[in-house]
Amino acid sequence: MPLIEIETEILGEMRIQTKSGELNLQPRKDFVVHTERGAGQYSLNNSDLVFCGFGIVSEKDNWNDYAGMDMEGKTAVVLVNDPGFGGEDSTFFKGNTMTFGGRWDNKYDFIDELGADGLLIIHQTSMAGYPWFVIQSSWTGPKQGLADMNRENDTAIKGWITIDAAQELFKMSGQDFTAMINAARTPGFKPIPLEAKVSVQIEAESNICESQNVIGILPGQQNPEEYLLYTAHWDHIGVGEPIDGDSIYNGALDNASGTSTVLAIAEMFATAEQKPDRSVAFLLVTAEEQGLLGSEYYAEKPTIPNDQIVANLNMDGVNPAGEMKDLSITGMGYSTMDDIAAEEAKKQGRYTIPEQEPEKGYFYRSDQFNFAKKGIPVLYAGGTYDHKEKGKAYAKEFTDTYIAKRYHAPADNFDPEDWNFGGMLQDGQLYFNVGWHLANSDVWPEWKPDSEFGRPVLKK
Ligand SMILES: [Zn+2]
Repeated sequence: MPLIEIETEILGEMRIQTKSGELNLQPRKDFVVHTERGAGQYSLNNSDLVFCGFGIVSEKDNWNDYAGMDMEGKTAVVLVNDPGFGGEDSTFFKGNTMTFGGRWDNKYDFIDELGADGLLIIHQTSMAGYPWFVIQSSWTGPKQGLADMNRENDTAIKGWITIDAAQELFKMSGQDFTAMINAARTPGFKPIPLEAKVSVQIEAESNICESQNVIGILPGQQNPEEYLLYTAHWDHIGVGEPIDGDSIYNGALDNASGTSTVLAIAEMFATAEQKPDRSVAFLLVTAEEQGLLGSEYYAEKPTIPNDQIVANLNMDGVNPAGEMKDLSITGMGYSTMDDIAAEEAKKQGRYTIPEQEPEKGYFYRSDQFNFAKKGIPVLYAGGTYDHKEKGKAYAKEFTDTYIAKRYHAPADNFDPEDWNFGGMLQDGQLYFNVGWHLANSDVWPEWKPDSEFGRPVLKK
């Protein structure tokens, strides 16, 4: 699988001319920008800054944050997430649940259509779902993309600024930040020019590299042309910016845990006395941390036609805290995979709940998303909420500590003190049971009417 690897160097600070003087932002500390175009020098030269709400264009929601604004020669400043964030109304951008348009990658795609110079997304920890250092580690150093995309007309400079820098920018431009956020959440929002001009320079180098998706297939006995597809991403971040003197990003939980659990499930299928009726494929994908690239590539150029895949069961970060009473389903309500998982969870004495932090958009942050986009019903679930022995407060504390200290940091390593394999066994067994159930059935799981997804051609 060919990848283009682009390394962007930020040449000096970002200078913003406002009516109250110049604001100088420091690379990494205050902002991070990069290019997806390829090798070359790119710059913003006194580019007009325009506040464009959440940077969302969605026909379905009758929403266009760029309405009436010619973005040519301008740089958009947008909020992370979507207008429903923090709201109670579940019919307005699904309330607190992050929608498709709230994801940064879609904001990146929308701006490409508009001929703008640049895009800056304002990072705020609760709205993004992760702290600023995740932006620093994910968006500096070599960044990969699929090699065969035509990117020369894309917006040249994209990136992030901290909430503190944004607040300063709005203040110096004579704008009230809270009023701007409220405006951005109001239907009929129109872009607001900031009367500020931004300059920054970058230089990028690129090279083409190769990585591999790895697949193993166990042929079915009765219906070998129908497949269950297990996935887990095998990559992590690699070597990056040192934190506390450690530059190796181990990725023990994210995602050696998922990779090894899928391998264990493969072994269970392969050594079962009776072979399943349907075929079962085990796919370990690459470059997930670079933007779900391995699964995107696979879904675009599948070795098994997408309409022969009954369901995708994805694992990314398997619960290391010990056995749980719950099974939390990310994207619950989307498909009948929920019902099958709930039935198997019940047999383990567990109850099923929706993900507890829907504002973080986890459904869009792992590989099942690329299969859902192709219309394949998915399962992305695990115990997270209610620890069997130590309760809910312990489970929450465990997760919060992981996100704050270990997620996408060198500290994501195996910890014999803290890790308890009971939860991985429990979730691994559940994933096997769901797959076993489907592999010996002729049912095709279906999307539910309110999901954003659907099979292109309905089977049965
Ligand atoms: Zn992951």
